[in-house]
Amino acid sequence: MLTRTDLRGRVPSPVELRATLPRAEVDVDAVLHQVRPVVDAVRERGVEAVLEFAERFDRVRPASVRVPAEELARALDELAPAVREALEETIARARRVHADQRRVDVTTQVVPGGTVTERWTPVARVGLYAPGGLAVYPSSVVMNVVPAQEAGVESLVVCSPPQAEHGGRPHPTILAACALLGVTEVWAVGGAQAVALLAHGGVDTDGAELAPVDMVTGPGNIYVTGAKRLLRGLIGIDSEAGPTEIAVLADETADPVHVAADLVSQAEHDPLAASVLVTTSEALADAVDAELERQVAATKHAERVRTALTGRQSGCVLVSTVDDGVRVVDAYAAEHLEIQTRDARAVAGRVRAAGAIFVGPYAPVSLGDYCAGSNHVLPTGGCARHSSGLSVQTFLRGIHVVEYTAEALAEVAPKVVALAEAEDLPAHGQAVTARFGASRAGTEGG
Ligand code: NAD
Repeated sequence: MLTRTDLRGRVPSPVELRATLPRAEVDVDAVLHQVRPVVDAVRERGVEAVLEFAERFDRVRPASVRVPAEELARALDELAPAVREALEETIARARRVHADQRRVDVTTQVVPGGTVTERWTPVARVGLYAPGGLAVYPSSVVMNVVPAQEAGVESLVVCSPPQAEHGGRPHPTILAACALLGVTEVWAVGGAQAVALLAHGGVDTDGAELAPVDMVTGPGNIYVTGAKRLLRGLIGIDSEAGPTEIAVLADETADPVHVAADLVSQAEHDPLAASVLVTTSEALADAVDAELERQVAATKHAERVRTALTGRQSGCVLVSTVDDGVRVVDAYAAEHLEIQTRDARAVAGRVRAAGAIFVGPYAPVSLGDYCAGSNHVLPTGGCARHSSGLSVQTFLRGIHVVEYTAEALAEVAPKVVALAEAEDLPAHGQAVTARFGASRAGTEGG
């Protein structure tokens, strides 16, 4: 089922690797001409425009956009006990991991009398987008809210599309997840219009105000991503999330049933999802292919999964050695990488680019999607070469606080002057010398 690329017996160059490896192509630019009028309309006409887009895209016009507190409480009361228990466990595990990511302020004594403190300050107000088009993702609410809360973000607002079948409110499971997390401000707005409303703020039909946010995070479809691209700068964003990806690096010791199940699990997200097997074993590749045929026929979303697995973004790459495999997965920089080889931990230690690494036979990606404690908002499309997943750090800003005594400044003044003159910015030097010496004495004397 997976298209094969045979790289055995040779070491492809970085350029060849990049051209050879399967990759989903999502052209966000192509929808910007549709997204821009939505963003402009929300900036100009606020909630009135939001309601028009809800009618057009979500087939419902909510009476008001802000979800009343009693509806959040009711959604939690009505949540199935097994789902509530599972969400509580997910939240508890995520909190444990993210609490350990908090940063402490560090003061460096550069010279006697001269210090620089790096002070970590949370972003003041954050908007979190919870998708709600084709499926609902309460797990994504957890993965966005927990790091923001652990970072100390004071003001959090969640937006999720209004659902026609739920009276124009977001899906009840999303509302229940918000209530469990202690989020009290939830607005029923989706797509590009949600990002625009978060960025510009607005006033609801009943006068409730949505104050503009400083940052928007959370996954969404191409329209959500397009709006993030247009509004980046006015607001901070986490990343432009593309279709999900899994790469499995496996040798002959891997179980083809597990490997196939994990490839299918991520293909289930999206017809554009990428499932890539990198292996030293042709026998394993054959066995995985046979398993995929069996498992795909039996899975609920068979058509979507088959489209993803047979798409040009998925495939199987044969390599001579596990180390060659590490080079391939590094070049691919998967959102999710599984290592199913002998000495899996040691192999994982040699990987340099991946959103998250799942080590050995008992750490499937779907554990990380829900209950590992790790974050599931991860860089896609090769961005793991330069970026990390969502974390407490995403919501913090490091501020350098500089303190120098007169003596410490005087000691370094000639160096500042020399560099200022070298850059032809003499006023920079004078801003230092004005505190000392002749001109100061002149001012005081006069
Ligand atoms: P969504 O909430 O992102 O988008 C739905 C909204 O899109 C609607 O409210 C509507 O307003 C807008 N819309 C629909 N058609 C439009 C059109 N023609 N023009 C303008 N706007 C339009 O939900 P979705 O569509 O289900 O997409 C969710 C995405 O998020 C999926 O691609 C999914 O794979 C991804 N996701 C990623 C992660 C992750 O962690 N990476 C997690 C969950 C979901």
